[in-house]
Amino acid sequence: MADADAAIRLTDTDAALARLSAVQKRYLEDPFVKHLVPRAHLQPPRAPLINIGTFVRTTAIDDLVFRWLQTSASEGTRCQIVSLGAGSDTRFWRIATGAHKDALATYIELDFPEITTKKAMAIRKSKELSAVLKEVKVSHGGTGIASSNYHLLPADIRLPPDAALAHHLPSDILSPILPTLLLFECVLVYMAPESSAAVLRWFVERQTGPLGSIVYEMFRLQDSFGRVMVENLKARNVSLPGAAPYPSMESLPTRFTSVGFSAAQALTLKDIRKSYIPTSELERIAHLELVDEIEELELVLDHYAITWGIRAPPERVWGQWGL
Ligand code: SAM
Repeated sequence: MADADAAIRLTDTDAALARLSAVQKRYLEDPFVKHLVPRAHLQPPRAPLINIGTFVRTTAIDDLVFRWLQTSASEGTRCQIVSLGAGSDTRFWRIATGAHKDALATYIELDFPEITTKKAMAIRKSKELSAVLKEVKVSHGGTGIASSNYHLLPADIRLPPDAALAHHLPSDILSPILPTLLLFECVLVYMAPESSAAVLRWFVERQTGPLGSIVYEMFRLQDSFGRVMVENLKARNVSLPGAAPYPSMESLPTRFTSVGFSAAQALTLKDIRKSYIPTSELERIAHLELVDEIEELELVLDHYAITWGIRAPPERVWGQWGL
């Protein structure tokens, strides 16, 4: 179990290196990522297929997050974001210094203590990262960070939420009333489906205001390409118990609707790249690197999906993507 958890934690290094590479190759703009990746300037770039996948995933999730922030602002309120299994993600810094910063009340990140300790150290070491935090204090014996607009919390989110989440998220950290957005970016696939459902149900029951959630993950793992993905991860001691109940596009939204969300929708990265990324952006990235394996790219992107769900009165819509 301990080894399996270490292998799961290592997936954060993959995600961080992919983000760094997409920034180095100018797919994405992110001045913060280099402060969260050790020896960032020495890291070699990743393959073009990985850069494009990271670009599509990040652009799409950013878009959903920004729409959620905009909707909260248009309702005259601010919103809170909780990122579970946040790893070395930089989204908080990008939001808190970006066009929607006034719509953000607080941003909370949870991950295993080994990951949050490293992140807390990187934040303390970097002027660029710590300057964005307001009234910052080290918490949880150095494994966390507390500030008025950002919290970094050490937690295993598989533990029963009434103990783990309730302990870490009292009302003065996470308001039960404000609009709340939950992010699970490549996380739930590593957990048993019952644990993920328990986490979602805990938030559905606790939050009385509008609740949204975005899940990004791999799926379609039964086909031949999917089986190769599973085998590659198995060779690294990573298993994917969370993927089993969501083998198809139709099944993905049930992750939300089965635990009390009112509506949910899913799209593959392949469909998002084709139909939702602005043409101007696709033209821009087409000039960055030579990609001749378009079929392979589409095959990879077809095995990753973004699913988002909302629990809110029917008049609260998410934005042009349909909810
Ligand atoms: N969300 C980040 C991103 O997209 O860059 C990191 C993704 S990484 C693939 C998965 C992260 O989930 C790792 O940081 C890992 O430690 C975290 N994680 C997985 N299972 C977890 C659990 N049970 N409790 C807390 N964190 C977990």
